[in-house]
Amino acid sequence: METFNRAAAGLNFTAIDFETANQSRASVCAVGAVRVRDGAIVDEYHSLVSPPPGLDEFHKGNTRVHGLTKADVSEAPSWDQLYPTLLRFIDGDLLVGHNARFDVSVLLNATGAYDLAWPELNTLCTLQLSRAALHVPSYSLPWVANHLELGNFNHHDPLADARMAAQVFLALAQMKSTTSAVQLADSLTVPVVPTFVDEAEAIASELDSSPDPLIATGFIDQAVCFTGALKIMIRDEARRLVVEHGGLAQSNVNKKTTILVTGDFDERTFRPGANFSAKLQKAFDLVDAGQPLEIITEEDFISRLSLSEEALRSRISQAGVSRRKLPDWVLTQAEVGPTGDYWEWFNTSLAHPEGRANGGEKCIWCDASVSRSAHWVHRDRHVCSVHCNERFKRAASRAWDRMGLRRPAE
Ligand SMILES: [Zn+2]
Repeated sequence: METFNRAAAGLNFTAIDFETANQSRASVCAVGAVRVRDGAIVDEYHSLVSPPPGLDEFHKGNTRVHGLTKADVSEAPSWDQLYPTLLRFIDGDLLVGHNARFDVSVLLNATGAYDLAWPELNTLCTLQLSRAALHVPSYSLPWVANHLELGNFNHHDPLADARMAAQVFLALAQMKSTTSAVQLADSLTVPVVPTFVDEAEAIASELDSSPDPLIATGFIDQAVCFTGALKIMIRDEARRLVVEHGGLAQSNVNKKTTILVTGDFDERTFRPGANFSAKLQKAFDLVDAGQPLEIITEEDFISRLSLSEEALRSRISQAGVSRRKLPDWVLTQAEVGPTGDYWEWFNTSLAHPEGRANGGEKCIWCDASVSRSAHWVHRDRHVCSVHCNERFKRAASRAWDRMGLRRPAE
């Protein structure tokens, strides 16, 4: 892939950051990106985004983090309008993000919400690179930036975050004396992850639930302590979840503690120089003394608890029928060929013969249940998620190509 040659040849990549309106990964409301060539930022891209209809309510927790409201994005372009421009900006580059799993998830889910084709890009995560290279009390962007002496920035402004992720990447490259993006990934044994893998088995292996110290999922062998008032969970419940996920719940910070969850700070306020409690200060001292202890927010704790919903769906598909045969109707319905409107033919060909799903029908790709609240495009096709929809569409396109059905140039 040409992409990869560019990332292997030098410090060339595009750093990206998204903000969302609510808990849905499709609810993109802002994007920032910077292009890096030979170790220098050479171009920038930034836009507010009007989230997809039905996913456009701003949750107050999200607004607290990025400061954006519905009124701010009312004039902004929608994702389907922006997507081609952003793809041209990325131009096949290696995509870099701090917690890239989140950014890639937003990219794919927002794109899937408009039934557009997913991009095939390689991605690399500066959060994972930082975990592998540094010893700091928190691996969130403000702490990593502070540790690397990269100056202040307006955390959760997507362009500022993309710029900082790029700077972190370049600082780590300098620290490891590496001269290419791929070399940096190799030197820290952090994987370059593709946005799309056609083989269900390959995806499933990536989503293995076994704990990964770089990705940081679950609590197996972790000693977890809580401090401050949790806002989302009750502390007893949180402690029970730790034990259920293989960890040890502690009452006090000590030399065995590996994770301290702070309820007093959120993603935005937990940063170097804040006013910390005695319990947190003790944790900082232990990190200074070399203890592998990470301080995380309640939101981090929750995201660490479980695999994302789409990951769970993929695991369901792995456990059951991992790869579906294309249903016959996709071929018979397509046989007339795209005579009139291409998209009408496309949608008609993929539509389930029993009509729109009402909820509870089986996904034609993975057998999971199709939700009544799913996107109407998914309900028309009886697919459970953007993931199954993407695989279904790709398999159909390949079959139509074999049948010699012409498609318009994309
Ligand atoms: Zn499915």
